[in-house]
Amino acid sequence: MKKLINDPRNVVTDALRGMSVAHTQLRIDQDKRIIFRASASQKKVALVSGGGSGHEPLHGGFVGTGMLDAAVAGEIFTSPTPDQVSAAIAGVDGGQGVLLIIKNYTGDVLNFEMAAELAQAEGVQVESVVVNDDVAVEDSSFTAGRRGVGLTVLLEKIAGAAAEEGQGLQQVTQIAQQVIENGRSMGVALSSVTLPAVGKPSFDLPDDEIEMGVGIHGEPGRHRIGMKDAHGIASDLVEAILADLDFTDSPVIAMLNGMGATPLIELYVMYGEVERLLAERGVRVVRNLVGNYITSLDMAGCSLTLLRADDELLRLWDAPVATPALTRGEATAATSSFERPKTPATMKGKPEVFMKDEARQAEHASGNGISIGMMKRWIGIAAEIINDNQEQLTELDATIGDADHGTNISRGMTQAYATLEKSQPDSFTEIGKTVGMSLVSSVGGASGPLYGTFFLRFGQETAGIEELDVPTLAAAFRAGVDGVRARGKAEAGEKTMLDVLMPVADVLEAYSDAQLHDAISAARQAAFTGRDETVDMVAKKGRASYLGERSIGHMDPGAASAALIVDALASAVEEHR
Ligand code: ADP
Ligand code: MG
Repeated sequence: MKKLINDPRNVVTDALRGMSVAHTQLRIDQDKRIIFRASASQKKVALVSGGGSGHEPLHGGFVGTGMLDAAVAGEIFTSPTPDQVSAAIAGVDGGQGVLLIIKNYTGDVLNFEMAAELAQAEGVQVESVVVNDDVAVEDSSFTAGRRGVGLTVLLEKIAGAAAEEGQGLQQVTQIAQQVIENGRSMGVALSSVTLPAVGKPSFDLPDDEIEMGVGIHGEPGRHRIGMKDAHGIASDLVEAILADLDFTDSPVIAMLNGMGATPLIELYVMYGEVERLLAERGVRVVRNLVGNYITSLDMAGCSLTLLRADDELLRLWDAPVATPALTRGEATAATSSFERPKTPATMKGKPEVFMKDEARQAEHASGNGISIGMMKRWIGIAAEIINDNQEQLTELDATIGDADHGTNISRGMTQAYATLEKSQPDSFTEIGKTVGMSLVSSVGGASGPLYGTFFLRFGQETAGIEELDVPTLAAAFRAGVDGVRARGKAEAGEKTMLDVLMPVADVLEAYSDAQLHDAISAARQAAFTGRDETVDMVAKKGRASYLGERSIGHMDPGAASAALIVDALASAVEEHR
């Protein structure tokens, strides 16, 4: 696969560097990967959005007067981490409050939610809206809900205009909600997408077939059909949207968006068809946008977004805007200014550095317990086996997700272990905190906040304990699992990591009178059984839920990584037999 890149691991950093020299009206924090307005220091409600990279110009290209104040860039197709989002909030808050614009993906929602909680705890007024316009996701009440796609662009423009003219946080939030309620999208892929770090297409799409209702991460759509002409495809997109919402009773803003690898000439062919079909159906399009605004790397195809607009929305749509990817009229920033912090504050509660006697770390268990040294070995071994299985995990995620789980969790565990080695915490609680915070701030996606929560809660439960026997290990594991359930609002049987973690917690509790080695080998067994049982389940949470019944027959990637983490714990215990 030929791509214009250097090291595939540095694509996001390299692209941000390019943006910073191309657009001097932006200020880019390379460390936290945040795109700010360079000179925007007006007293107004601030708008922050962001998400996985690979959808350019979304979101960084929409930072500027009349649109966003900051955009947070995650790894490719992976949501940014809470500390990145917190830093963006701290960097833009001028006292008028901050609106977070989140696309409805489990990873984005979890990471932005954690950042919002942290900012609120510090007294910042934060509101969030979740965009969920993709009509391709059917049965959305049985899944993670509809995905956020093209409507995000229209929302950022309209809410951005409202904020720029000085409307308050509640009003701006309300306008954003109005956009969400009145907008719908549907997409189609003519080709797959290739993540630079993976190097091969995420799915196979034969030459004569197209994927109707595709997501912007190469997630499968509603169904595959044979290739049609532009008129036929446009008609399918229009029908899917109109079947979901009536667009005949108000003026409409239409966006025909390219997915990244479709020539503009084809987008115009499509727009011509769409416009005619809509007119025939009594839909009055009064404004439009045709071009590449929310892409999916090198995917060929397009999406259609329609928004029912009243006079007020149209007025805000028409307001001036000056961003790298959307410019119109004479945009002038509000005048009153204040000093923004040059370096955004980092997340509170980061692990402090402990430099304690290393010899104590190596202390072995007295026999029937897990020592602090063994817990560290657990993380070391986990990092190693996750790393060894990185490709397999990504392969699983390519089939029912977005092909990033192996890269995500391997980056996270490696980082967590490196931080442990450096900081040498000397209690279970501190180890849990170090590992948890490392995962939260380095993984992103859905699994980052979930695994992060697991280790944080595991650690909290072990406060004051010097050696974990089976009952205390079971209690800590249960606390971790309950944390994951609460954060992800999921239960067993929904084809997630919980299908491994919950049976393991059950087994550890059931073995509370047993020897550690027996308990741990039963736990390992339960982990692999739980993992294998996900194959036959229908995914109800996370990205795989978009596939519905089509997720049957495939192992859940998060369950696979969870089983490896439990396996690593068992290995750490066995080393001391
Ligand atoms: P993303 O889906 O954002 O790309 P990852 O690929 O890193 O994130 O992780 C996907 C895994 O996260 C899934 O395989 C599943 O096990 C787990 N997961 C997703 N949503 C939830 C949830 N709500 N609760 C528990 N686990 C979840
Ligand atoms: Mg994934």
